[in-house]
Amino acid sequence: MEDLFVTAETIKVLDWTQRPWARGQLQRFCGRFRLDESALYFDCETPIHQCRLISNTFIQLPVPLRQAAIYLGLTVSTTQNPHTLSGDQSAVYGSWSSDHSHISPHLEMSETSLSSVLIFPHLLHECSHLFWAIQTQTAKDRYKSLMMATCKTGFVEVTTYAHGFYNEWQKLLLMDGFAIQQRRANALDKWVVESFCETVAKICCPWYKTEENRCNDELLKSRHEAIYENFGLAIDRQYRVA
Ligand SMILES: [Zn+2]
Repeated sequence: MEDLFVTAETIKVLDWTQRPWARGQLQRFCGRFRLDESALYFDCETPIHQCRLISNTFIQLPVPLRQAAIYLGLTVSTTQNPHTLSGDQSAVYGSWSSDHSHISPHLEMSETSLSSVLIFPHLLHECSHLFWAIQTQTAKDRYKSLMMATCKTGFVEVTTYAHGFYNEWQKLLLMDGFAIQQRRANALDKWVVESFCETVAKICCPWYKTEENRCNDELLKSRHEAIYENFGLAIDRQYRVA
């Protein structure tokens, strides 16, 4: 039987003037987006079962991560490919150096990311980028200094993915060359933010990358405290498989 109630839809239309980051292939992340009950805007082409799956998982994220996504007006789309356009399993795009009202972030989730095991940690990671984007520079700098102070010889990051960014920065410290200072600063910032997102995902999601056996409970514990002290983000391990 047809639903007798007609509900008004909220649609927002975004083009590249609102999304200057959406050039070339990324232009596909402009278009029409429909607001759903979880306060996410889905690309109007997204299959309804995928919207539900993402929404149902999104509402289980820690409140401050959700608030950041909603505050920034996050839009979402999915792809049938195993990878996103950026080559990852999930990705957020946006004008990260702009003020909050112009970041205009978009989340792309691949078929791989939509699996029951990965969707929750991947949403945690991507929404942590949004949470990070709206923190004060002072808090981010303090956290960065703390991270730099912890990486002694033999330092092991919380995941292999985060460790890759740490290695990139370390490599540049030993190199000379054109614009090396800027490249080092960029690599350091990239490590800090990717590590932050992986750390939040690891703390919040008990099964995330456990197969990597990195034995870093101590590091996770001290980061957990640092994240609370610097950003007021309290994270509980209270979540379940979607
Ligand atoms: Zn990331």
